[in-house]
This record gives sequence, C-alpha cells and structure tokens, in this order.
Amino acid sequence: RPRIFSGIQPSGGLTLGNYLGALKRFAALQGGEAETVYCIVDLHAITVWQDPAVLRARIREAAAAFMAAGVDPAQSILFNQSQVSAHAEMAWLFNTVARVGWMYRMTQFKDKAGKNSENASLGLLAYPALMAADILTYQATAVPVGEDQKQHLELTRDIAAKFNHDYGVTHFPITEPLIEGVATRVMSLRDGSKKMSKSDPSDASRINLTDDADAIAQKIRKARTDAEPLPGQVDGLKDRPDARNLVNIYAALTDETPDQVLARFEGQGFGAFKPALAEVAVAALSPITRRMAEFMDDPAQIDAVLADGADRAAAVATPILERTKDIMGLLRTR
Ligand code: ATP
Ligand code: MG
Repeated sequence: RPRIFSGIQPSGGLTLGNYLGALKRFAALQGGEAETVYCIVDLHAITVWQDPAVLRARIREAAAAFMAAGVDPAQSILFNQSQVSAHAEMAWLFNTVARVGWMYRMTQFKDKAGKNSENASLGLLAYPALMAADILTYQATAVPVGEDQKQHLELTRDIAAKFNHDYGVTHFPITEPLIEGVATRVMSLRDGSKKMSKSDPSDASRINLTDDADAIAQKIRKARTDAEPLPGQVDGLKDRPDARNLVNIYAALTDETPDQVLARFEGQGFGAFKPALAEVAVAALSPITRRMAEFMDDPAQIDAVLADGADRAAAVATPILERTKDIMGLLRTR
C-alpha cells in the first residue's frame, strides 16, 4: 500500500493557514488508497529556541488540533517525531548525502536565520535533511504540504535521487508534493505579501485555531484591505494581494472557487465582505476549537494516542532505516 507522510511543527499555536493548507487535507486523505502517516515534528521545532515547558504543552495541543480537525488515530498513524529515533538517525545518513550548497539555497533558512545567519543553529541549516528523513524513512510517495514547502520537497527528491544513484539502488521513491486547492498559501492578515505563520510575532497577522468567535471577527475586521469594491471574477484581483487573500480564505472555508464567491459579492466593499467572511470562519473553526479543548482536557488520553502512534510508526520506519544502513555498508551484527 502506498504511503502518504506529512508533518506540522509545534513551534506555536496552529493557524488557519495550517488548517487549510495541511490539517483539513490530512483528514480528507484518510481511508483512501494510501496509508496516512502524520507527525508532530518536534525535532524541527527546536531548530529555533523553544521554552521546554511551552514546547511540551504545544506538542499535546498540536495532537489535539490534528484530531479535532478530523485526523483519526484509528485510520492514520499520528505521533511525535522525537519518539521515533529512526528520524534522527536517517537525518544523519542524509547529512552525508546532501551538499552544503543545497542547504544555503533554501529560502526558509534565509528567512528564519535572518541577517546574522552565522548565528543560526546548525539544525536550522540542516532542517531539510531531517525533513527528507521524515518522508523517506516511510518510503512515502506523496506529501501534502503548503506552497512554502515546495522547495524542501524538491530537496527531498534530490536526496533520494542522489542516494539511489550513488549506491546504485532504487531504494527511495521520488516523492510527489501534493499542493492543491486555493489555500496552499494563506497570507498574513496584516501583509498580503507574507505567509500566515504560527511563529509570526504579530498575533493579529493570523487566526489561531484556539481563537474564539470575537477574536476571529476582530482580526478579520482589522485585516489589511484596499478601498475598491470586489470584482465579479478573480482576474480582477491580480494586483490586490490582501483582497485576494480574504477571497481565497472564504472560498477554501466554504469549498467553493474564488469565482463562485465573487459572483455573490461583485460590486460590494469590505464593509460587507468582512462580516460575511467572519461568519463562515467562525462556522468552520468553532467546532474544531471546541473539540480541541475537549481533547486538551484529557492529556493522558493524548499521550496514549501518541505512544501508540510512535510504536506503529517505528514498526514501519525501523526496517527501512536498517536496509538503508546495509546499503551504505554500515556493519550490523544484531
Ligand atoms: P512556522 O512559522 O513555525 O514555520 P508554520 O505556520 O509555517 O510555522 P509549519 O509547521 O512550518 O507551520 O508547516 C506545517 C504545514 O502547514 C506545512 O505543510 C506548511 O506548508 C503548511 N502551512 C504553513 N503555513 C501555511 C499557510 N500560510 N498557508 C498554507 N499552508 C501553510
Ligand atoms: Mg513554516
């Protein structure tokens, strides 16, 4: 059975971008042809500083968000990365396959390292090798991600191809990114040229999955827009990234196309559109927020789900890791 893998960092509270670009699609992919493996990538989160107590809480909160969004631990393998040591081991093997120059070209590294990149953690630079390990340790053939992860996915393919070539094998698949729908890049509510991110310092830039109805309505009311009325078709939004973003969010939340949404709002301004958007956002998110809170009330249950998920993940990952070591000539005597 083919396998799909994806992950989310517990580097902050999950956002509307994570829901539309990742979680909602993770849930939809369950029960299909492929086995679904979903990971809370805590080893990735620590590539930038995380307070230990906060991190522990966020790992559980992320697990609650996955389940509240419809990821079912009976249908999918749901676990946190650091409990399956194959990820870190495979990442080391890939550190010897990947080239330093590949890493320096990654835009996420440039963005997150900032101006003083000499002072970034070595892990932040090596991040894509660990991500390749996450995916390839399950020999996953497809990875649902947002647009921002496209470059890292290409690097995963490069690592798989170089490994197969260097060792003369067809061990790793050349993984396909699944970047689909209108919400593959939800933008910041404060700046339509920047991605919405859970680690953005501005809370007003994003909608959190824990925000209540009032907070959601207020953030949408204050979202940056222009003074023009909405056009009847999406072509008319070409040079209006803030407006385009809000229309895309609406469409993704109601499973419509942006053109279908605009057909109803043509000629109207944001005074009318924003309250309508707030209404659909609250309708879609409040059941998730409520279910998340219910899961969070029982941390022992979350821990049990993650423990079971880690066992099932390790059962898949370990033989693939061992085969990889064999191919590389690392002697195994037990
Ligand atoms: P951070 O700011 O810490 O990097 P993030 O919000 O970018 O957090 P990640 O954990 O890096 O979240 O990414 C998890 C998944 O969510 C990835 O598949 C990523 O492509 C997707 N994703 C993140 N932000 C968005 C967004 N704004 N729109 C659509 N998908 C997104
Ligand atoms: Mg990110």
